[in-house]
Amino acid sequence: MGKYTKKQNPTGWGDQTKLVRGGLSRSEHGETSEAMYLTSGYVYDDPETAERRFSGEEEGYVYGRYGNPTVSMLEERFRLLEGAEAAYAVASGMAAAWGALACQLKAGDHVVASKDLFGSNYQVITNILPRFGITYTLVAGNDEAAWKAAMKPQTKVVFFETPSNPLLEVLDVAMISRVAHAAGARVVVDNVFATPILQKPMELGADIVFYSNTKHTDGQGRVFGGMILSTQKFKEELLKPFLRHTGPTLSPFNAWVLLKGMETMKLRVEASCKSAAEIADALASIPQVERVYYPHHQSHSQYALAKKQMRLGGTMVAFDVKGAKEQAFNVLRRLKVIDISNNLGDSKSLITHPATTTHKNIGPEARALMGIKDGCLRLSVGLEDAADLIADLKQALSVNS
Ligand SMILES: *Cc1c(COP(=O)(O)O)cnc(C)c1O
Repeated sequence: MGKYTKKQNPTGWGDQTKLVRGGLSRSEHGETSEAMYLTSGYVYDDPETAERRFSGEEEGYVYGRYGNPTVSMLEERFRLLEGAEAAYAVASGMAAAWGALACQLKAGDHVVASKDLFGSNYQVITNILPRFGITYTLVAGNDEAAWKAAMKPQTKVVFFETPSNPLLEVLDVAMISRVAHAAGARVVVDNVFATPILQKPMELGADIVFYSNTKHTDGQGRVFGGMILSTQKFKEELLKPFLRHTGPTLSPFNAWVLLKGMETMKLRVEASCKSAAEIADALASIPQVERVYYPHHQSHSQYALAKKQMRLGGTMVAFDVKGAKEQAFNVLRRLKVIDISNNLGDSKSLITHPATTTHKNIGPEARALMGIKDGCLRLSVGLEDAADLIADLKQALSVNS
């Protein structure tokens, strides 16, 4: 820590103060903003220092794949925000998902996962891990008996996202964590859609939480990043040895962009949530819309749970257009403000047709199991004026009348 870094007690700070000042470690130059250390390696004054660094006797950086001061600032800021013991930054959200799973699983182990998964999460659980002899069971919804029935003596990990992509199913983190822990399994939660601004799964019992920082943390569509939050013990014994040697290193440049993104993350997420709630209300009264999916909308099937578990309803709204693919495509073609994109968590509002993009590869059967219809559209609400977004959706939807 440089001499310009004030000695304060960041664990007592509110989230917004943590987001602006958490992890800040100034160099001897006293720069206001976080410094970007674009270096792959480090030098030593003498061979003894190198020896001590490598033996762990002396703290300090040895190689960019093992650590970087800008990346360390980002990890510390995120760790404070989440209220976790430890944080590990990686190159993307999927590097985080894969690292959190692969660091602790081996052939013969079993994973229990929610059936509602982001496309790449679904591929990892149902296609990639099985190639290494790791089996899985998928469970639907919040049926406690079904989660209990899925547990086996070999179950090591319970994996889910809430709210889920794209239909915003809300899973009961506390209930699933209780069931998992009773079976001796660790709970891994993909908290990308909720963000740590709305929901802190560790407070509800999760052991490991991960993020795609590509989404709301950057929030401005620039860089990739991922983050894994865990106990110190899990990081030291499982994550570090796995990630250091397999190489999903976060670029210091991306870490710097993400540090600056964190400063405004809460303001951006809250603004998008406010618009998303208004949009969900507006969509519910448009005749060309069959159904709206929004966690804090009264029509949501887990409305009470979503109110309890999430501080706000989130930045994502899904809806079924009356009709099928053709009617959904008609709407997409007519939009004048909202962009067609499968990305999300951006300052620009983005809309996608999951059945032909993010959830195309999983096939029609898995889509049917997840309840994803051909008329379904998933909207990521950005920072434009809500009135402009509602007007855009209304005029586009009128094409089907
Ligand atoms: C985008 C996303 C990921 C993967 O993140 P990348 O940064 O694209 O690798 C994982 N889970 C969810 C829910 C996502 O939306």
